[in-house]
Parts: sequence; C-alpha cells; structure tokens
Amino acid sequence: MILTAVAVFLITDALLSFFGGPTSQSISYTEFSRQLGAGNITKIYAKGDAIQGELKTSAPVPSGKGTYKNFDTQRPSFADDKLWAQLTRHHVTVTAEPVVQQRSFLANLLISLAPMLVLVALWMIIARRMSGALSGGLGGFGRKTPKPVTPEEGRRTTFDDVAGIDEVEAELSEVVDFLKRPDAYRRLGARMPRGVLLAGPPGTGKTLLARAVAGEADVPFFSASASEFIEMIVGVGASRVRELFNEARKVAPAIIFIDEIDTIGRARGSGSGMGGHDEREQTLNQILTEMDGFSGSEGVVVLAATNRADVLDPALLRPGRFDRTVQVSPPDRAGREAILRIHTRDVPLHEQVDLAQVARTTPGMTGAELANLANEAALLAVKRNLDVVGQPELSDALEKVQLGAERPLVMPYEERRRTAYHESGHALLGMLQPGADPVRKITIVPRGRALGVTLSTPDADRYAYTEEYLRGRIIGALGGMAAEQTVFGVITTGAESDLEQVTTIVRGMVARWGMSERIGRLTALPQDAQQAYGLAAAPATLDAVDAEMRRIVDECYEQACRLLTEHRPQLDALAEALLERETLEEDEAYRTAGIPRAERAEG
Ligand code: ADP
Ligand code: MG
Ligand code: ZN
Repeated sequence: MILTAVAVFLITDALLSFFGGPTSQSISYTEFSRQLGAGNITKIYAKGDAIQGELKTSAPVPSGKGTYKNFDTQRPSFADDKLWAQLTRHHVTVTAEPVVQQRSFLANLLISLAPMLVLVALWMIIARRMSGALSGGLGGFGRKTPKPVTPEEGRRTTFDDVAGIDEVEAELSEVVDFLKRPDAYRRLGARMPRGVLLAGPPGTGKTLLARAVAGEADVPFFSASASEFIEMIVGVGASRVRELFNEARKVAPAIIFIDEIDTIGRARGSGSGMGGHDEREQTLNQILTEMDGFSGSEGVVVLAATNRADVLDPALLRPGRFDRTVQVSPPDRAGREAILRIHTRDVPLHEQVDLAQVARTTPGMTGAELANLANEAALLAVKRNLDVVGQPELSDALEKVQLGAERPLVMPYEERRRTAYHESGHALLGMLQPGADPVRKITIVPRGRALGVTLSTPDADRYAYTEEYLRGRIIGALGGMAAEQTVFGVITTGAESDLEQVTTIVRGMVARWGMSERIGRLTALPQDAQQAYGLAAAPATLDAVDAEMRRIVDECYEQACRLLTEHRPQLDALAEALLERETLEEDEAYRTAGIPRAERAEG
C-alpha cells in the first residue's frame, strides 16, 4: 500500500512538471556569476535572495550531465558583487513574472491528495472483490444471489457414491421421492418433513449424503455452512438466510443444506456464551421463521448436518422444523468393504488385493478415513512406480493412517530403551487382559507425535463395552507409565496422551455409564468435557465423582504395576525384541511374550 502511494506520488509529480512548463536547473551562485560575466543571461526574476533566470544559449550543467537553459540559484546575503550594475551592463531583463512557472495551488493540492485518492479507490476494489469471494456460496453482502449447485455442473453425487449406511439411504429416499414428484404428495395431502437433521460423528458421510439426495432427485442444491453466517459482518447472517430461502423457493423443488448447524443452533443461554451471541440467535431465528413460513407444498426441503445433536436448541427440533433426525453412524464391516470398493473404483488393484480383509482390520474407521486410506495406498503405489495398488501398499497405508507417519528421529540409546519398556508395558498388559483387543503391532519407531506406538484393534466391531473391558483398557493405557516406574523408577512426559485416554474412559464409567456404585445410575457430568462442570449435578456428587475416578485409576495402576512385576521376564523379552527389531507384528509379539493368542472371533 505504501509503495503504491509513493509510486503514485512520483508519477503525478513527473506528469505535472512535464505539463507545467520547462524545468529549471539549480546552479551555484558561482556558476551564475560566470554566466553573467560571459553575458549569457537574457532575463532573471528575483524574489528576496532567490533568483530564477534563462540563459541565451544552453550551457553544460557544471559537474553533471546534459545542458540547461532555465536555472535557479540563491544569492548569498554576504555577496558583495554589485549585482544590479552587472545586470544592466549585460542588458539582462529583470522581469516581474517568474521565469519558471511555479505549480499552481490547485496542482499542489492534487498532488498531495492523489495518493490518498488512489488508496481509497484500491481499497474499494479490494473490498468489492472480497465480498464477492466470501459470498460465493451464499450471496448476501456482495449483492450476489445465492447460487445452487445445478444439475449441469458435471457429474452429480448419487446414492451410488454412498455405501455402508443403507438404513439412512432408505430414510432419505423418501425425501428424494417427494422432490421428484411433489404433486403426488400434494394430491393426497401428505406433508413432507420440512427439515431433516443428519446427526453423526465427523467423516461418516453427512455432507456426502445431502449432495447425493439432491443428485438423486435432480434438483438444485443450495449449500451453506452455518459458520459462514456468523463470520460475516454483524447483522448480515439473518439477511443471508432470507436470501438463501428466497432463491431456493424460486427454483423449487430444491434442497437447502446447512452444514455444521450446531455452530448457530446451540441451545440458547448454554455452553460458550461469549462473542457473536446475538448474531447467532438472529440467524437461528431467521432460519426458524423461514421454515415456519413453508406451507409444506413449496417443495423445498432443508437438510442440516451436525456432529453434536445433543447441544442443539430444542426449538430447532420441533415439529414443522427439523422434525426428522437421521442418525449416521460409522460403517460396519460389510459397509467398510463397500466404501473401500467405491473409493477404489478408479484405482487399478492387484488381483490379490483382499478388500474384505482390509475391512476386517479397520473397525471403527469412518467413510472419510477409509477414503483417505484408499488414497494413501494409491499415492504409495505411485511413489513405488507400480502399475497397480497391491496388498503391501494397503497395509502400509493403513499403518500410516492408524499410527501416523514415521518420523526420522535419532534417539539416544537410553531413551530408546525406556520407550521400548513403555510400549512393552502397554502391549504385555493388553495381552494379559482377558477379553481385551488383541495387540496388532508394537513399534518404537517415532511416529507422529509419539515416540512409540502399540496398536490394538478388536477382531470384530464392538458396539457396547463391559466394565471389565473398560478396566482392561485403563490398565493397558497405564501400562507404559507403570513399566517405566517399575523398571527405571522414573516417570516421564511420554505418558501424557495415555493419561488423557485414561481420564476419558474413567470419566465415562463413573459419571455417565453408571459403573460406580457410589455415584449410582445417573448422569453426573455432561457428555461434553468442555462444558462447565456443575450444571448436571450437586457439588457433593461432583466431589464423589472425582473421588471415584481417582479410586478406579489408582486400583488400575496398582494392578498394572503388580502384573508387570509378576511378568517381568516377559516384559524384558518384549523390550529386548523391540530394541533389536524396532517393530513387532501381532504374531511375533505374542510369541515373544509366550502368551497364546486368544481365539479369533469372526467379525
Ligand atoms: P461428514 O460431513 O459426515 O463429516 P463427509 O460427507 O464430508 O463427512 O465425508 C467426507 C468424505 O468421506 C466424503 O467426501 C467421501 O469421500 C467419504 N465418505 C464418508 N462417508 C462415506 C460413505 N458412507 N460412503 C462413501 N464415502 C464416504
Ligand atoms: Mg461435513
Ligand atoms: Zn504410552
């Protein structure tokens, strides 16, 4: 900006002097006297001691390039040269008009204002651009109308692109049918739900589903993320909502999709109560008003997605608004296989690739994670100059996705040894717990933020957990710390994420899942750890929750230490094997520890 201003100033200056008459050369008084003595001066104009003048014939600039004709100089006050006498002797005209035109007042004003004018103009251009870009999805502020994703825009997403959530598809195909032939519904007086809320963890395909519904019904799709509404200048959110609904009504049947609606739809007066509150509320109210205004026959269906259905304002879920909630869950084994198939449609696979097996080893992974896995495998194949993606690429990609990328990090021997014991502690306790998820891999190659990783995944998908299983998980998670303590007698920072995991589990056991006799069967803490304590239960209960959490963790830690001391030879064996080989696969690990692998349940 400042550079522009300087440049503009210089250009204006040059232009003005070009048009504003000849420039004059500043010369020394000595040079002036010389020219005067040589009789080479036609006229001068003097004001005070400042003298301007014109030469008869151009003279070379003293100590400079080129010649000059007009000049200005300064007469020293001590000059004692009888100037007037000399001037008359050489017939120099002394004029009343400046020889060189000074810039007019107006020109000066223009010059001093020009940079500012240019800056203002620039700013206006940029502001217009920005508002244009920001309103890309939604219109509003930039005076652009919301644009739907129209059917002409390339291949549309359909239900063929969605897998593993068939029951959700079935519910939504009703909406599709309504959008396809609204008249049939109108004739029978059937009213469609005005809004459908898609609720589920991130990456399960909610956004994808919304697009697929629009694609299947072949109707315009207006998409907006709720956070766009409130990031804008205050007061704009509501008008953008109005505009969005107006546009959709014009081209109905159509779909309006509001992503991440919990950002504006949080229950009023709860949770984070700071900043942009009014804006949120106004925007939310506008959405509610628009939805109430539907007569039910416009053929506009509002879809919304959220990861946090539990924090939504109940007003949103009332009949006539989002009166249908569809739960979107991570896929089961068959679903994962189908999703992998979709995302490897355009990837040439080696004939020995067994997607069913990959699906078996990825319990809990969402559609987005599986899509990422398929892509990582393809990337690896490119890196290895292969024509097809094979099973090794898929396994390595899975490793990278589950464990994080390997990090080249040279660790001193002592630290490697401690890491080896830490991971062996996790692994050994995991193997010793009856019913725990089998240990799949142990490694002391630093990955992501971790110095080592022990990976355990269940054989089959799990949907509910027993208290015994959860205690086993806590014991396993504390195993790293316990091993460091038993073997080295120290505690390091390496257990931070282990402790976080422990806290999450024990908190759920005590305060949400009724697994503590003392707390009893009630919900003492909200699901959201970020939310302020004290909303859900009396202070005495919260104290008890705290005490119970401590009791359980202490018991588990004691048991972890005891088990590791009892099985010290096995711990040593695992740690030594790790130091030697860095990574142990499932079978090697169980063999090294001398523990028989529990029966494989079919998933
Ligand atoms: P969400 O909105 O629930 O967070 P997305 O719809 O954005 O999840 O999913 C991200 C990506 O993951 C999708 O674009 C798609 O490639 C993939 N994906 C997620 N779920 C599925 C699914 N059920 N079937 C196929 N692909 C999926
Ligand atoms: Mg999404
Ligand atoms: Zn650990």
